[in-house]
Amino acid sequence: MESPAPPDSNAPSPTIAYSLRGSCYLNVTSRCTLRCTFCPKFNHSWNVGGVDLHLRREPTIAEVLAAVGDPRVYREVVFCGLGEPTLRLYDLLDIAAELHQRGAERVRLNTDGLANLVYERDVTPDLEGLSISMNAQNEKIYNLHCRPSLPRSYPAMLEFAERARDFVADVTLTAIDGLAGVDISACERIARRLGVKFRRRILDQVG
Ligand code: SF4
Repeated sequence: MESPAPPDSNAPSPTIAYSLRGSCYLNVTSRCTLRCTFCPKFNHSWNVGGVDLHLRREPTIAEVLAAVGDPRVYREVVFCGLGEPTLRLYDLLDIAAELHQRGAERVRLNTDGLANLVYERDVTPDLEGLSISMNAQNEKIYNLHCRPSLPRSYPAMLEFAERARDFVADVTLTAIDGLAGVDISACERIARRLGVKFRRRILDQVG
């Protein structure tokens, strides 16, 4: 497996940003609205693909930008760590805007798709490039694996994907192959019905 490495050895913390397969991944928070049973951090590990993602504190906007360095060297910059990036939505939007100012080709967000539920408004017009963790073909299996803290998380996540389709150019729903009871084909059919793309993920693989 390709070894991820911090993109800038002078960055304030190597866990804020790391490069993998030509992309730069950003780890901006450890907070989550889910408590996924398959999550490394709920299984006594903060290590994903050889990278320690244990933030001692949330990095500032300036620290995140410093950790990225020159965004033009990456094919994309992705908000994706061991936490839900939209819990820092306004910082995320500021960081994304600045990355574009600095010439970033594409900024993508890996999300649980619960931001509309959390902020009680439609935030999808503010976003671009989304990978949304659907994780299951129904609420029962979703709740089993994702253990959401907010009621109605599963339908809210699907509504988020449907709303995003109208504003965001690239929306992909994802599900992890190999989790008990998860029917990948059924997940793919849901994505198709909602008019968004689908990607099958492998457990513990960043992307
Ligand atoms: S949403 Fe991601 S970081 Fe949060 S608990 Fe689930 S797998 Fe872990």
